[in-house]
Amino acid sequence: MSIDINVLPAVKTPFYWYDMQLLENTLDVVKRESDRYGFNVHYAVKANANIDILKKIHSYGFGADCVSGNEVARSVEAGFASDKIVYAGVGKSDDEITNALRNDIFCFNVESIPELEVINELAQKEGKIANVALRINPNVDASTHKYITTGLAENKFGINMWDMENVLEALAKLDFVKLIGLHFHIGSQITDLKSFKGLCVRVNELQQWFYARQIIVDHINVGGGLGIDYTNPDKEPMPNFAEYFKLFAEMLELRPKQSLHFELGRSIVGQCGSLITKVLYVKNGKNTDFAIVDAGMTELIRPALYQAQHKIENISSELPVKKYDVVGPICESSDCFGKAIQLPETKRGDLIAIRSAGAYGEVMVSEYNLRSRVKAYYSK
Ligand SMILES: *Cc1c(COP(=O)(O)O)cnc(C)c1O
Repeated sequence: MSIDINVLPAVKTPFYWYDMQLLENTLDVVKRESDRYGFNVHYAVKANANIDILKKIHSYGFGADCVSGNEVARSVEAGFASDKIVYAGVGKSDDEITNALRNDIFCFNVESIPELEVINELAQKEGKIANVALRINPNVDASTHKYITTGLAENKFGINMWDMENVLEALAKLDFVKLIGLHFHIGSQITDLKSFKGLCVRVNELQQWFYARQIIVDHINVGGGLGIDYTNPDKEPMPNFAEYFKLFAEMLELRPKQSLHFELGRSIVGQCGSLITKVLYVKNGKNTDFAIVDAGMTELIRPALYQAQHKIENISSELPVKKYDVVGPICESSDCFGKAIQLPETKRGDLIAIRSAGAYGEVMVSEYNLRSRVKAYYSK
């Protein structure tokens, strides 16, 4: 099974193609498996912020997890209930905070003392009390690429435990913020569930620390990060959500009435998107030939940015297989989707599908080289 060339629209390449049926199947499973335990899922908007995709996700009753003011605005536009919107980020601007306050969002995930103070001041101005969760850096290794790990002491994210007494002291003086939760997010594309086990153990320890100081928050938010299978997108079209949620149900010790929240991005939308591109030229190379395609790092930057490997398929050709370096037109040597990739013999005009591009694909598009913005099309 791969992308069926006959279902694709006859439009100018490159373009993003979203399989809405797969998205629905994935959402069905996330809903079923999280409802089993009464867990709350907030979709991480930064993975894919297309309004059609947001509307579909919202229709399942999930909340939204935002990392910018514009993401908060887009989520509201897509219909997400304000009281299911969480907002994280190390550098929230005054305007972004004020707009989030005006939207009465569920919770700010706060990453530092100065940020707490600014939220307090702006909430006072708006005549509101801001709900906050402390984003704690749990110092748990997510065993993922160094650019997408976020939960180590050396990362810029979250509050370190050695600073926590100071945070509580600061909080005690702030009348316009209310502590309602603890927030964690250890990284992205985590495929070994052991990392999440490590997170649970750590959260249990930290809950004890707060409990010893008479603090019991209403909710725990364990972030996102569940990975997908980039090698075999058709064999594993969705991650094992049942195992994932079960692990938290079994390992995380919630206090009575405490709710558990998740912020899933990639695992929800990653597999439903493909970047469809056309072969412009096939050119002789020293080791392997180059298949030069009309999409580049401006349309999908993950290979260049994180050394990510997406499955690449020639969906036009059924000729015997040869090896190609599949590269884009951008004037950068890192503009390469894959080296020595086995493809059926490839010719000018063939369509290439770059799979598993639904997350952190279209949202990272740039206009470098004055490229035109790539369009998106959706299956029924
Ligand atoms: C990026 C991010 C997520 C989503 O991560 P995925 O790996 O896409 O699930 C969740 N929470 C926060 C705070 C994030 O920054």
